Amino acid sequence: MPHHDVLVIGAGLAGQRAALSAAEQGANVGIISKVHPVRSHSNAAQGGINAALDPEDSWESHAFDTVKGSDYLGDQDAIEIMCREAPDELLELEHLGVTFHRDETGHLGKRAFGGASAARTYYVADITGQAILHVLYEQLMKHDVVHRYEEWFTTALVQDEEGKVSGAVTRNIRDGSMELFAAKSVILATGGNGQVFNPTTNALVCTGDAIAMAYRIGAPLMDMEMIQYHPTTLAGLGLLITEGARGEGAHLYNADGERFMEKYAPNKMELASRDVVSRAEQTEINEGRGFPDGTVALDITVVPRKRIHEALREILNVGRDFAGVDITKEPIHIKPGNHYAMGGVKSDTDGLTSIPGLYAVGECACVSVHGGNRLGANSLLDTLIFGRRAGAHAGKRSKGSPMPQPSRASLDDEEARIRAIFDRERSGRRVSEIKAELGATMDEKCSVYRDEEGLREALEVVTRLRQEAKVATVDDRGTIFNQDLLGALELQFMIDNAETILVSAIERKESRGAQYRTDFPDRNDDDWLKHITVQPNGDGEAPEIEYSEVTMTQWEPEERTY
Ligand SMILES: Cc1cc2nc3c(=O)[nH]c(=O)nc-3n(C[C@H](O)[C@H](O)[C@H](O)COP(=O)(O)OP(=O)(O)OC[C@H]3O[C@@H](n4cnc5c(N)ncnc54)[C@H](O)[C@@H]3O)c2cc1C
Repeated sequence: MPHHDVLVIGAGLAGQRAALSAAEQGANVGIISKVHPVRSHSNAAQGGINAALDPEDSWESHAFDTVKGSDYLGDQDAIEIMCREAPDELLELEHLGVTFHRDETGHLGKRAFGGASAARTYYVADITGQAILHVLYEQLMKHDVVHRYEEWFTTALVQDEEGKVSGAVTRNIRDGSMELFAAKSVILATGGNGQVFNPTTNALVCTGDAIAMAYRIGAPLMDMEMIQYHPTTLAGLGLLITEGARGEGAHLYNADGERFMEKYAPNKMELASRDVVSRAEQTEINEGRGFPDGTVALDITVVPRKRIHEALREILNVGRDFAGVDITKEPIHIKPGNHYAMGGVKSDTDGLTSIPGLYAVGECACVSVHGGNRLGANSLLDTLIFGRRAGAHAGKRSKGSPMPQPSRASLDDEEARIRAIFDRERSGRRVSEIKAELGATMDEKCSVYRDEEGLREALEVVTRLRQEAKVATVDDRGTIFNQDLLGALELQFMIDNAETILVSAIERKESRGAQYRTDFPDRNDDDWLKHITVQPNGDGEAPEIEYSEVTMTQWEPEERTY
């Protein structure tokens, strides 16, 4: 049985950062990833990472922008930690080898991003995630104490009799063998759940696996209703055009040629926070001022050509290859699209969840630093700060404590679950069909604008899809790289995510951040300045809802204008 002091599930930025800092504590670390680590979705991050590094900027200003961006739902103690530790983290990355952009004076160059009162986004052209991920991977390779399980898929978490997490069941994708891992601590870092929606900017692997696995063993999920729709994605495909484009000066226009952000955010214009810009675009589209393909236009031609080639070169390729548009010459059509999960497994500022031995970091976690709406370039920061903190905490904690002996019954259960999928009669719907209906339903009913009727309809669909998923058959019954089987397991994770998102969205009877309820259009601090958490309620029926306080330190809620 493989056994590790610290077992990290997920090898994106959060997982790799956690593994590195646990290893620095002398812990023996295992890190599992269902894809090669550098293919994690963090690789796709374009725009950059925030830090108040400039002497004229301050961590307090960064923190206030984050609190305001969160629509006052973010926990201010966690936000303070993130913003205070950001400059050192950024410098450490640079010293490890991340080639952050430098300006003509040789200083680190920065760009403006949405919702920020100062330009504090540091970047490597528009491949920032890739640059950081590769550097962390190189660092991990230096450590003999880090064992990498690349292309292994975790299917379930294992608890001992007292409820403490003692390991995980994982399938080796290459040969189909199943292993029971023992671990003193398990750190979840499996990223977001964008695939629950279609289209999405998220990679195919972003199926909310750990959110569902933690939920299944009773870990509360928090802020699940807060799903970010990014203002600039390609219609139909969901591909992202980085906020960096607006940071470099690009404008938004409706089909009448109006720079419509003047009406919605006269001060910050295109660089208001994402929820505000997405709502503005959707309003223009809904009220008939969009283009016939249901979009508005992003005009990047106002950015000097040389600068586009230097700082937005990937977007140049995306425009050409996926929209047939030369962004240096003509506007590109975009619309709001699913992008990011603010919610996730409730965890504290050391990544600890309410289940002993279990940590969660990165996009699958909810600390909550993003509250109702994440500011652009704060997610890479979140993955690194809380990844490092959780890794250090788990690494220290493992010293001197005995290695658990997880029960083989968990392995037997998972093997039986997979055998049952293979043994099913070939009938019912295909996994891909169920997934497509799930994604379309969520995008239609649980996106920029929501109401109770639509959310309840979506929940009914999800409840039916859960039953259909239970009997869906897979065509491939082989052992080697059986992606068909993994798709069936992921679908079940996604359905848990969808249900908890919808139940939370129905529960929150107000509009705040990314949740805009047309039937409750105002923010209501008296009743709803609190987190919604959901847990399974034992009888397998609808999730149980609880509330938790928002931690306030120095910023009282104010009206939010940009
Ligand atoms: C297109 C795009 C652009 C973005 N740009 C920016 C940006 O410029 N700035 C910013 O701050 N944020 C950005 N974000 C958000 C940010 O990139 C993500 O929130 C962040 O990278 C998530 O990192 P993570 O480590 O939590 O998860 P991920 O990078 O998604 O990694 C998840 C890991 O978990 C593994 N995994 C998942 N399930 C399992 C399982 N069952 N078993 C084993 N392994 C599993 C995967 O293999 C992977 O290694 C962007 C997001 C997208 C989609």
